[in-house]
Amino acid sequence: MTTKPNARSIASFLRRSEKTSSGAGAFARGRRGKAVIATAGLLLAVATASANAAGSPSLSAWADRIAPGAQRSVDISKPATLCPGSKGEAVSELQRRLVLLGSTTKVTGVFDSPTEKAVKKFQRAHALKVDGLVGPRTRAALAAAPGLRITGNRAELAQQIVRRPGITADDFHSGHKGQDPESSARSNLRDTAAGKSALTSRYGDAHGKRVDLDTDMLRGLLQLNANHGFRLNITELAGGDHSKTSWHYAGTTFDVNEINGVHVAMSGKGRELAERLQSACTFLGATQVLGPGDRNHDTHVHCGWPQN
Ligand SMILES: [Zn+2]
Repeated sequence: MTTKPNARSIASFLRRSEKTSSGAGAFARGRRGKAVIATAGLLLAVATASANAAGSPSLSAWADRIAPGAQRSVDISKPATLCPGSKGEAVSELQRRLVLLGSTTKVTGVFDSPTEKAVKKFQRAHALKVDGLVGPRTRAALAAAPGLRITGNRAELAQQIVRRPGITADDFHSGHKGQDPESSARSNLRDTAAGKSALTSRYGDAHGKRVDLDTDMLRGLLQLNANHGFRLNITELAGGDHSKTSWHYAGTTFDVNEINGVHVAMSGKGRELAERLQSACTFLGATQVLGPGDRNHDTHVHCGWPQN
């Protein structure tokens, strides 16, 4: 029911990572994440030290016996870049990491097409070069994610969301101020945290019905903040004024208007963050993802999960 750091998997990932990282900085904010990374870094240092102590003599002995030209092609300190078609334990480890971070990819040990798609979505979400290859930078960004295990039933997931300072939720409806506060995003989360269903709005097409918020969507929200470093303000969940068949009324969808303190916009930082968030939502299994440039979504991002 709580989120726990998965230190072992981070440590093993860091052992394979180089210290060069542009993506790693995104997680410097999280206090718990920082502590975990520091611990893993220590493990890395210990592992490197003992490897050097034990391994150096025999390695140099071998080097004496091989031709000078051959030495340059062997560098055991750098793990190979993983790419489509790669196989083996390193790929399984990558896939386990992707799954821990919320991807629906399967652990097959083969760098297949779903793995490549997940890697590309992760890269776009974390402002990395989108090439589908797992080299030093992507590996470092994957390792830098705190790797908190997201568990719990519907109410427990909502309780964790309510407690996270990095996720806020409006207590009013844009365009309907003062109306139906009981169907606001904040009320929806509080009701769900208390084990109740969420209310849709009484105006528009929703008619004040009750709906259970979707657990995949709630897990996705936690993943976005806890493991992917996005700070979010939610404007609507089940409430608000949407089209008749809107996924909001099914409880599987959220709208976000502010990301990392920046308002979603058609250009500049607000656009860039929106596109990163949209990619993170698809990484996490959302299939209805809209944002700036899509009709009626110039100022917010909409992420919807399929109904079970
Ligand atoms: Zn929406």
